[in-house]
Amino acid sequence: MKRTKITDLLQGASALVGQEVCVKGWVRTRRGNKHVQFIALNDGSTIKNIQIVADMQRFSDDQLKPVTTGAALCVEGLLVESQGKGQSVEIQATDIRVYGTADPEQYPLQKKGHSLEFLREIAHLRPRTNTFSAVLRIRSALAFAIHRYFQERGFYYLNTPLITASDCEGAGAMFQVTTMDLRNIKKTPDGAVDYSADFFGKPTALTVSGQLEGELGATALGAIYTFGPTFRAENSNTPRHLAEFWMIEPEVAFIDIDENMDLAEDFLKYCIRYALENCADDISFLAEHFDKELPARLESVLSQDFKRLTYTEAIEILEQSGRKFEFPVKWGIDLQSEHERYLVEQHFRRPVILTGYPKEIKAFYMKQNPDGKTVRAMDVLFPSIGEIIGGSEREENYDKLMARIEELNIPMKDMWWYLDTRRFGTVPHSGFGLGFERLVLFVTGMTNIRDVIPFPRTPKSAEF
Ligand code: ATP
Ligand code: MN
Repeated sequence: MKRTKITDLLQGASALVGQEVCVKGWVRTRRGNKHVQFIALNDGSTIKNIQIVADMQRFSDDQLKPVTTGAALCVEGLLVESQGKGQSVEIQATDIRVYGTADPEQYPLQKKGHSLEFLREIAHLRPRTNTFSAVLRIRSALAFAIHRYFQERGFYYLNTPLITASDCEGAGAMFQVTTMDLRNIKKTPDGAVDYSADFFGKPTALTVSGQLEGELGATALGAIYTFGPTFRAENSNTPRHLAEFWMIEPEVAFIDIDENMDLAEDFLKYCIRYALENCADDISFLAEHFDKELPARLESVLSQDFKRLTYTEAIEILEQSGRKFEFPVKWGIDLQSEHERYLVEQHFRRPVILTGYPKEIKAFYMKQNPDGKTVRAMDVLFPSIGEIIGGSEREENYDKLMARIEELNIPMKDMWWYLDTRRFGTVPHSGFGLGFERLVLFVTGMTNIRDVIPFPRTPKSAEF
């Protein structure tokens, strides 16, 4: 008999009642008495379980003995309206087959209610919990929404390299990529590492951002976006940083910083609305179990304009707040999460976009303002997250860009290909980077970034 997914069964229930159906999935719980047993079965297609009713006149105790939490089943039976409360329909089983057992003495998810910390230690099994299946379905839906948003607006999906030879982005410490034998490294006569013996013949690393290559795409295709893994050897161990994370980086020719902010705001709202409309069951589950405020917080982002102000204005607000911050505030500092969250959560009570940052704390490629002190950077700050997007209008003027590169002593030999965008047909252009996991954090209401990626990589942790 053809299998029906549980989500389809529940959605089409009224038409299917009275028919024979076949479902396949994993046992969440089994309870009951000697006359009747109830099995809650989940197949990952929805947070909801289907209730299987096993009449013990039809089944023997021995037959149901292997039906324990975690076991995989194929069940056939009649779909009927449910007499019990908690579900509208249930299956009166005629046949139950066990694909694989899960020894209750050994199965780590036998009991409910494990802490998120414990589940991180069994990341290979945690997708089988309600919480992580909900997070992973939302994550998948958001990935689809992102592609859809850009594809429907004429952006091309550009795949930028993961292995890079340029070490100039300055976005974070890099992971080296080498095939050299670390126990026996070739040296040049003056004692330096001889990279000519390495795979690429020069030092290479995992990328910290696809932006520079993204600009090559944007100045040819008009508008591109990247969506891929990014690597930063951040030794920071915060709840918002991973060593391996996914980033979305649109880059658009002929738009300035204001249009870049419009794009970022519209894009974020689209993704959040998409999740609210398409992941309602999963969002309600997470709201109920972790964060009652979640749906209201998501709605409030949709209903309000993001507050736009300059870094300089933000510093004044922070200085006048009367707050004692762990990191003291003065013009020129890189804002810390505590500052960003004060602005968003206490002062404006809505998302904030800050622009006009001091050039010293931002990357070399950002467009310089006439004041000579600030650049056209923009950071989008979100409640409970802090920075979710970082972006800028890019410096399109060859001479100004070169001057900055020289000021910062960026090795030119690494940059010739990038500079060609400014030498040939240069245009105003802008873009930004969204940390995918930070968006998933916001939409799921989870509080630790390790809980919104299937296999987190953080300092001293790369299991599974
Ligand atoms: P932060 O100050 O939070 O470290 P950043 O200034 O280093 O961020 P960018 O270089 O602008 O961030 O990267 C763009 C986006 O990528 C950030 O806004 C954030 O959403 C995300 N991001 C940056 N670093 C990480 C990380 N280590 N793990 C997960 N997401 C990250
Ligand atoms: Mn960082």
